[in-house]
Amino acid sequence: MSYPNARLSVFPCNQCGLCCQHVYLAEETSFLDRGDGTCRHYDTASRGCSIYAKRPDICRVDRQYELNYAQQYTWEDFVTLNLKTCELLQKGSSSKPPPGSSPLIFCSKSPGEDTA
Ligand code: SF4
Repeated sequence: MSYPNARLSVFPCNQCGLCCQHVYLAEETSFLDRGDGTCRHYDTASRGCSIYAKRPDICRVDRQYELNYAQQYTWEDFVTLNLKTCELLQKGSSSKPPPGSSPLIFCSKSPGEDTA
């Protein structure tokens, strides 16, 4: 399998941290739940991931695209779908992500790191 990572633009994460605070919404991420719906690796003070460099594949939006969605969507369409999930979370929705989006997008940054 070839991975088109080098061609992918950076996901436009605004570092709101909301995806990491709603891991209970998707079966694929519920194992990260510390008990209140937020990921056990989420650092509230910095609004970042405390294990960013070693975060699971499910938290890597570009990796999820390559592994599970590249056959279905262009990267641009995948980004658009996931931005809809961001929008729902930012509006305060706790409903499931729209069909076709990845379970949730996870691109929370550690301070000083680039989102990928
Ligand atoms: S990016 Fe880090 S803090 Fe966010 S859900 Fe993944 S492991 Fe948790």
